[in-house]
Amino acid sequence: MSAGAGSVSVVSVRGLRVYYGTPRGPVRAVDGVSLDISEGETLGLVGESGCGKSTLGRGILGLLPEGAGADGEVLYGGRNLVTLPPKELRKLRGPDLGLIFQEPMTRLNPLLRIEDHFAETLRRHEPGIKDAEVRRRSLDVLGKMGIPPTRFRQYPHEFSGGMRQRIMIALALVLRPKLLIADEPTTALDVIVEAQILAILADLKAGFGTALLLITHNLGIIAESCDRVAVMYAGKLVEEGPARDVFAEPAHPYTRELLRSTISLETTALHSIPGAPPNLLDPPSGCRFHPRCPDAMRVCVDLEPVEQPFDGDRRVECWLHGPESEVPAGGRVELVREEIAVADEA
Ligand code: SF4
Repeated sequence: MSAGAGSVSVVSVRGLRVYYGTPRGPVRAVDGVSLDISEGETLGLVGESGCGKSTLGRGILGLLPEGAGADGEVLYGGRNLVTLPPKELRKLRGPDLGLIFQEPMTRLNPLLRIEDHFAETLRRHEPGIKDAEVRRRSLDVLGKMGIPPTRFRQYPHEFSGGMRQRIMIALALVLRPKLLIADEPTTALDVIVEAQILAILADLKAGFGTALLLITHNLGIIAESCDRVAVMYAGKLVEEGPARDVFAEPAHPYTRELLRSTISLETTALHSIPGAPPNLLDPPSGCRFHPRCPDAMRVCVDLEPVEQPFDGDRRVECWLHGPESEVPAGGRVELVREEIAVADEA
């Protein structure tokens, strides 16, 4: 998958796999993902809960929990972050690589004032920084978030959930990271705060050229805020391309079903995708979406689809668009749901 035409990739992910060891075998939470994000570009990562979006975000930054393993490449500044020693990786976090977490309260130390959070963050990465500079930069970024200087000496519990989330974002931005991963940054916030945060992220990429990976299950946010969109299902990227084009003409049945499930002003009847995402300990054979796919064919049960370029700068993994030469004889026969169940039991 390529970045926008003529643009420079800030990060290039190639064949990234992340797995968790369990007593019943490895869970392949991210399974061979490739993507690029360019300077000043926002890539939206979308998919149902449990499809591996957050694990992919953390895998890119090397922030995986104990017991998780990763291989493949995350190329940043000519180095592969997957194999970088932890000490080197830690140096990059903050000034180069930033992460906005979902739960702001659990990430702010309740015993520290907001000013102490900023001082600690800046001093860790810029040890010689003067007090006045800490204050100037902190208040500048907090001001952009709509937090007035009068609140600088307050404690986290004195702020609303929306304000705490904006403080978390300010803490990530004060170091002006070149790559920022925002994991559901507006979940559980009201629409006004959500709009403010999205506007701030847009300013950030325009002002500093930050490459942004925006993880969300909200397709409305992707449509409004992202240049490109990547759709994830069961640990794999199944479709990627310019957000406008993917939304106007989804190539993958999963993308199409996700879009159909979104409520908008035109919605007259609720739609949901039948079934649930698979257990990644034992994913379905062939295409992982086949038990839920309304377009499933014989070949989908037997063979994993291969990545295909689609419509210029898009790509898709689906046998509907797969190379004719790789589809076995009779593979294009459509399956009805009962046949899929029988095939899966066999
Ligand atoms: Fe559906 Fe087959 Fe495409 Fe998978 S490969 S999404 S089952 S048509």
